Amino acid sequence: MLDSTRIVLVKPSHPGNIGAVARAMKTMGLSHLVMVEPDNFPSDEAFARSSGAKDVLENATICSTVEEALEGCGLVIGTSARNRKIPRPLLNPRTCAETISEKGLPAAIMFGRERTGLTNDELERCHYHVHIPTNAEYSSLNLGAAVQVLCYELRMASLAAGEVENNAVVKTADIASAEAVEGYFSHLEQTLVEIDFLNPDNPGKLMNKLRRLYMRAGLETNELSILRGILSDTQRTIRLAAAKEVVKNEK
Ligand code: SAH
Repeated sequence: MLDSTRIVLVKPSHPGNIGAVARAMKTMGLSHLVMVEPDNFPSDEAFARSSGAKDVLENATICSTVEEALEGCGLVIGTSARNRKIPRPLLNPRTCAETISEKGLPAAIMFGRERTGLTNDELERCHYHVHIPTNAEYSSLNLGAAVQVLCYELRMASLAAGEVENNAVVKTADIASAEAVEGYFSHLEQTLVEIDFLNPDNPGKLMNKLRRLYMRAGLETNELSILRGILSDTQRTIRLAAAKEVVKNEK
């Protein structure tokens, strides 16, 4: 879905906005940018503003008509900061992304000129319109910001559909295995007995309570190694102290 959705900018005038659009797209995993008669492109300013997203600009398609920009798309969506008199089913960014995901068609999301938006003729070519819900008295976002909102929702929908991986979650490989955790509990119990904190003849519910505490933490492998290191050092210290005691008594 991120690969089959193109972002179409109709006659953008500020090269800085073009760069910001490329950056907004790349951060969300989109790469297909199409521009209809940009006023000033290619330009140093667009490349500078794109930061690390120069590849999106280098691979951008430049067209002279909207028809050309929409070629091959089965779903065309137009964005607008205002209510228009040519009603089409109105989506918000979230339902827009869900619709693209459900239809599974090559899609285009069209954005208008900074000053005047999309013309009525351009909006009539669309299956749906999208309005980003905004303050009614100040409803127009910067072009780059509007593209960011739409692309963010596309990414959220593609995460929900399992098409891309969430790189912010802890990898399951880092979570300590059940055997490793059980090994830790045996080590802990043994150490608690050695320091006389736990009476093996009358253990009560201590281990059960400690288990509950540690299980709540969702221990990772490296955390378990630290805890086991503390237990080993505790045991070593007790043995050293016991050995010193024996030497003293023998003197
Ligand atoms: N004065 C223009 C605003 C253009 S802003 C107008 O009234 O239409 C440039 C582009 O950013 C718009 O054409 C649209 O594609 C997008 N945009 C800005 N604010 C938006 C909003 N609230 N909802 C949807 N798209 C928006």
